Amino acid sequence: MTTPTPLQRGPGPAREPSAIALAGERVFLGPIPKPGQPVFRNYTELPRRLPISVWRAARVVSVMAYVALVAGLFISPAGALFAFFQVIVPVLPILFFVAPGLWRNICPLAAVNQAPRVLGFTLAFTAPSWLRRYGFLIALALFFGITSARIAIFNTNARATGILLAVTIVSAFLGGVVVKGKSGWCSSICPLLPLQRAYGQTPFVTVPNSHCQPCVGCTKNCYDFKPQVAHQADVRDTDSSWVSPRKLFAAALPGFVLGFFTLASSTDLTTAHVYQRLALYFLGGIASFYILDALLPVTSGMLTALYPVPHRDRRSAHSVGPLADPDYRRGPDPELDHSHVCGGPPLRAGVGGWPSGRSGGPGSGHSARDQGEAQRRPGTLRAR
Ligand code: SF4
Repeated sequence: MTTPTPLQRGPGPAREPSAIALAGERVFLGPIPKPGQPVFRNYTELPRRLPISVWRAARVVSVMAYVALVAGLFISPAGALFAFFQVIVPVLPILFFVAPGLWRNICPLAAVNQAPRVLGFTLAFTAPSWLRRYGFLIALALFFGITSARIAIFNTNARATGILLAVTIVSAFLGGVVVKGKSGWCSSICPLLPLQRAYGQTPFVTVPNSHCQPCVGCTKNCYDFKPQVAHQADVRDTDSSWVSPRKLFAAALPGFVLGFFTLASSTDLTTAHVYQRLALYFLGGIASFYILDALLPVTSGMLTALYPVPHRDRRSAHSVGPLADPDYRRGPDPELDHSHVCGGPPLRAGVGGWPSGRSGGPGSGHSARDQGEAQRRPGTLRAR
C-alpha cells in the first residue's frame, strides 16, 4: 500500500467547529442543520423561540403605539415628529438589516393587514395579476415618492405626516380584508418592502414568520417564507419583468440616499433646486449601476445584491451585505441539493456563489405551490 503524497491526500477528518462558532450559529441562525436537512430553511423549519401568543401580544402593543403616534402628530406635533423622524425612522434600516423577520412580525401595518385573517373576516381573494406583476413597482414608487416628499412636506408638517400614517394603516387593513395572505400589502405594495428586501438579503438574526399559519402561497419568492434566499431568488428569476424593478431599486437607492442626506438640510437652495439636484443624484446612481453592469465581470444579480451595500454602510456600521453570509464566501457546495433552497431546480448562483456567465440560473424561485406543500411536511406547523 502506497502512502499518499500530500497532493493525493484528502482533506482529512473534518474539524469540529469551535465553541465560539457553535455559539454564534445558535444565537444567530438557530441549530446548525443536520446532514440531510436544508441549509436554507423555510419559516416552518426554523426554530421558534417565542410562542405565537407572545408575537400577537407584541403586535397589539405596536398597533397601539402606531395609533398613539398618529394622535401625537396632531396633539403634540413637535414631539411626535421628533419621535418619528429622529428615533423610529433611523432605527428601522438597522432592524431591516440585522433582524428583518423581527420587524415583519411586529410591524403594526402587517398586524392590521393580517387582522382580518386572524379574526376570520378576510375575503381572501387571489390578488389580481396586475397587482402581482406591478406590486413591487408600486412599492418602489411609493418609497421614493414619500421619502422625497419628506423634504418639502413631512419633515416639518406633523399634520400631513399624521394623515400619511393614517392613510397607510387603513390601506394595509383594506388590503388584508380583500386579498389573501400578505399579498394585499406586506408582500406587494408596502413602501418599505423594497428596502427590507435590499437590506435583509442575508439576515444576521433569522426570526421565523409568526403570521402565516398556514402559508397560502400568496406571493412568489416570499420573503416571509424563506428569508435567507428570497431576494436572490428574485434577482435570479428567469422572468426579466420580475427582475427589472428589483434591479432598478438597487440601482437608484445609493444615489437617492446620498442626495437625500446631502440636500435635506440645505438652507441655501430653494425647494425646486433641491428636487432638481435630488433627481440628478437619483439618475446618476441609476446610470452608474447600469454602466457597472455593462463593464464588470459579475452577474447582474450579484451587482443588484452588492450595489446597495455602501448605502447600508451609511446606516449601519456593521453592514457587510451579502458577505456576511459564509455561503457567499465559500461558493456553492457541490454536495448541496439546491432543490431544497427554493423548492425548484438547482440554484446555480445567487445563493452560494456566482457563475462566470451573466445569464440567470434556472428556476430559482419557489412557487406558491411549493410554499403550500412545505406546510404539509411532517413536523411543520398545523394550520390555524
Ligand atoms: S406566501 Fe405564504 S408565507 Fe409568504 S406571505 Fe403569503 S402566506 Fe405568508
